[in-house]
Amino acid sequence: MNRSALKPLPDQSPAILALHDVRVHYPMGKDWLGRPKAFAHALNGIDLQVRAGETLGVVGESGCGKSTLAQLLMGLIKPTAGRLAWVYSTEQERSSNVQIVFQDPQSSLDPRLPVWKIITEPLFVQRSAPRQAMRAIAAKVASQVGIRTEYLERFPHQFSGGQRQRIAIARALSSDPDIIVLDEPTSALDISVQAQILNLLADLQRSRDLTYILISHNVSVVRHMADRVAVMYLGQIVELGTAAEVLERPRHPYTQLLLEAVPRLGVAVDEAQASAPTELPGNRTLPTGCFFRDRCPKATAGCEQPQALLPVRGAAEGERVRCHLAS
Ligand code: ADP
Ligand code: MG
Repeated sequence: MNRSALKPLPDQSPAILALHDVRVHYPMGKDWLGRPKAFAHALNGIDLQVRAGETLGVVGESGCGKSTLAQLLMGLIKPTAGRLAWVYSTEQERSSNVQIVFQDPQSSLDPRLPVWKIITEPLFVQRSAPRQAMRAIAAKVASQVGIRTEYLERFPHQFSGGQRQRIAIARALSSDPDIIVLDEPTSALDISVQAQILNLLADLQRSRDLTYILISHNVSVVRHMADRVAVMYLGQIVELGTAAEVLERPRHPYTQLLLEAVPRLGVAVDEAQASAPTELPGNRTLPTGCFFRDRCPKATAGCEQPQALLPVRGAAEGERVRCHLAS
């Protein structure tokens, strides 16, 4: 199913978030003076705008920096360089308006807390409201995600994987956010419940006017949900545009390989099936020139120059590709 059939593309919506040349380099190990021995170059110059009401799909192989991007957006890590610009003026405003759903509801839900407390966790962080008010909020969002309110006293282990992910979604909703970062939201779930969770997310987006940043290694999931798609390789965006353009007419050789590696039907596939074209190179030392040139079947002269993410001639406005052969 194509999202653009369900709602108009929010082309004209204002940006609620912009990233400017954002880099994240993790220090690795320490020498005898306590200096880092090396760095994992997780993000290497991300430029991106997110528009109100859209679903921005972020796709790429394991290790390309997707979860680092998610943690950055959640304020859990700081950029090594570059800048994030939000529409929010205070950190408190940002933290209540940007929530996350992680891949694995098994490890992201505190096993010692009853469901109502898990769901209202974001509210406890912000302010202390009376217990009764918290329970009322938990009951309201639980019913919106399909968790029966008589289960609110239960603990996470008493639920199935799909129900636990519904609880994680309820937690993300309880502070009434604008933006939800979905980091591989269905990757840990049985195939049979993946579509239910994606449909729930699509319904919630429409009823609550949410903006989604949907991170997935699974092209099928992104195809099912996204309005726009960013393709990541080695901590950079190599292609950015509408889902229709990027997924139906991929221009970057990496996007082309990534799409060839997955089945085209809108059925979710597991991580093993959605196999990478080849091994992702290490990121301790970044390649010179185009990051992809060693794996690129189309590499020619010119690829030893660094590549910028540039507009595509003749394509829809906003289409960008990091490849001199395509732009
Ligand atoms: P993805 O979610 O796309 O699989 P990640 O953002 O998890 O990618 O990882 C990107 C790169 O950063 C990988 O090389 C990974 O090993 C490295 N990395 C991620 N988190 C850390 C960390 N806390 N410390 C050191 N390296 C990290
Ligand atoms: Mg990840």
